[in-house]
Amino acid sequence: MSYSAEEIRAALENNELTAYYQPQYDTLTNRLKGAEALVRWIKPDGTVISPFHFIPVAEESDLIMEIDWYVTEFACKTLEKQNLMPQFPISVNFSRRHILEDDFAERLTALVDKYDLPHPLLEVEITESAMVGNEDRLLGWIISIRKAGFTVAIDDFGSGLSSLQFVKDVPADVLKIDKSLFSRNCEDEKERIVLESIFSFAHRLRMKTVAEGVETKEQLAFLRTCDCSKIQGFLLAKPMTEEAYLDLCRTYKLADEQTDILQLQNPTVASNLLLEVIFRRYPLVIFTNLTRNTFYMMAYQDFTRTTCPSTGVFDELIVHGSASMHPDDRELFASTFDRKRLLEDYKSGMREKRLITRQLGDDGIYRRVETFDYFVDNNSSDDVLAITLCENLPDE
Ligand code: C2E
Ligand code: MG
Ligand code: MG
Repeated sequence: MSYSAEEIRAALENNELTAYYQPQYDTLTNRLKGAEALVRWIKPDGTVISPFHFIPVAEESDLIMEIDWYVTEFACKTLEKQNLMPQFPISVNFSRRHILEDDFAERLTALVDKYDLPHPLLEVEITESAMVGNEDRLLGWIISIRKAGFTVAIDDFGSGLSSLQFVKDVPADVLKIDKSLFSRNCEDEKERIVLESIFSFAHRLRMKTVAEGVETKEQLAFLRTCDCSKIQGFLLAKPMTEEAYLDLCRTYKLADEQTDILQLQNPTVASNLLLEVIFRRYPLVIFTNLTRNTFYMMAYQDFTRTTCPSTGVFDELIVHGSASMHPDDRELFASTFDRKRLLEDYKSGMREKRLITRQLGDDGIYRRVETFDYFVDNNSSDDVLAITLCENLPDE
């Protein structure tokens, strides 16, 4: 059933609306990390009405904005009551209508400052679907909120027509992964591949991730092998009253000792740390399947001016690469990294190859570049794989 705008407005004015809090936990340590505020309508007889029965009607007019601001103030009051060190951040849902609110960041600042709270304690959630059609305004809106010191999360990522291209351009801090992306309980191989890619994509864009709607042990176990920052879902906790949430925060305050992330010896954490260093050290990293003549680039940071395809046919990449070399180095480069030659090198027991060439830089000047090719063994196929790392060398 759904209610009329008048009924909802009356409920708002009678203070019948309140926020429940659903805790979010650290994926690896299980520690409480914060909560999401979710509006509830508590009728005078105690019946709890879910937002599904009144948010869609409220969304038809600016009534939704009043509700969102009301919930935000409620969350500020909860944070004030926490009075704990450290306080746990709360994220609040905002309708797409707020994107058109010119003074949004100022209004949020004024409200949070009224309760004397540090701005990073409040996170603004906006759903993925709100972004479509509002792209130009949205970027400025998000930037102004972050400038004011709040964090911004993209909610329900994967529930609609998600565009990775668009997420790449949105300067948000957090990506909330919708439960529809693990509806097959993470037991389906394709589902796992998609999830792994999304978490690694978010990590590389320096976004934190929250998996929401986690209901089963299987999902949790798989998400722990991914690079997922936080977990929110019925498996760990359902949305609860403010009072229950504050009790939970108190118990966590007691168990406040910090976990040493390295003690967990989690392979995903370890690999990501290592990757971070490799990407810093080598501006260009390429994965190649020599048997199948394919490649894809893992990193390409200001390497040369010439744009290069990020995935495709390896033989063509070598043609492309040698064209950017100094004319005297082209032949040597093309013959050293000729694919058939690399396959023979591999067969003859070679495990790495390296070459220094001169490559045209952004400024039209040739610079020395060292290319390392490492043949890598893998358990899942007989194909010959190689990883290429390229490094700009200092001038001689
Ligand atoms: P949301 O922001 O994506 O919030 C997550 C929803 O998923 C919540 O539903 C939560 O109870 C539910 N959920 C959490 N864990 C699980 C799980 O393990 N399994 C399942 N099946 N569901 C889970 P809720 O509280 O009914 O809210 C529904 C939606 O209503 C929210 O989705 C949000 O879009 C909207 N909403 C809630 N509060 C507000 C608000 O204050 N303002 C606005 N504009 N929208 C709100
Ligand atoms: Mg939300
Ligand atoms: Mg959501």
